Amino acid sequence: MSIAENIVSIKAELAPYHTQLVAVTKNQPIASLEQLYNSNHRIFGENRVQELTTKHESLPKDIEWHLIGHLQTNKVKYIASFVHTIHSIDSLKLLAEVNKQAAKNERVINCLLQMFIAKEETKFGLDESEALAILTSSELPTFENIKIVGLMGMATNIDNHAIVVDEFRQLKAFYDFVKTIKLPNVNFVEISMGMSSDYLLAAREGSTMVRIGSAIFA
Ligand SMILES: *Cc1c(COP(=O)(O)O)cnc(C)c1O
Repeated sequence: MSIAENIVSIKAELAPYHTQLVAVTKNQPIASLEQLYNSNHRIFGENRVQELTTKHESLPKDIEWHLIGHLQTNKVKYIASFVHTIHSIDSLKLLAEVNKQAAKNERVINCLLQMFIAKEETKFGLDESEALAILTSSELPTFENIKIVGLMGMATNIDNHAIVVDEFRQLKAFYDFVKTIKLPNVNFVEISMGMSSDYLLAAREGSTMVRIGSAIFA
């Protein structure tokens, strides 16, 4: 199927759950991103800063760009003028730098805390106590140019649905818990979970944003 057909069918699958699609365009050539754009899709996700800035420069300016991959503090300055949402906040230090660079650009950047939910060693992310330490830190109320809008997590890359669903439920339970606490600069409305292999499981478990690459471009 073409990119346009894939987009239509994935959006139809997600519609009953009101889950938004972040089209993951990493490693794809500009021509494919143009096809995506011409299919009327506007939310694009990249995992590397260099690739994100290059693609942002080459494409129309009404695209909403999401950074979904690991972000180093010293690279925040390259994306702060345009990035809409950063899914991969994993420290207070990184959040402070995003706030500083967003302030320079007179913007507010949406941030998600990346949570570690998988049974794999290799995935980045915070555990619940580390996330709570950031959310309740005395510095957070001074960060006027960021908003923590929710959580992101990646499930174990495994064919066993029960394990994947269990990890999504764990993330959703923590999300629902944080939602009940009133915290400055925190407004939980997004839970970014689900990729090509597990997006329907994620949508059923309450995901508000799925990050899908290969199922669109394959
Ligand atoms: C690549 C990537 C995705 C998309 O993966 P697919 O399996 O191609 O859908 C989602 N999230 C993150 C963080 C990624 O790096």
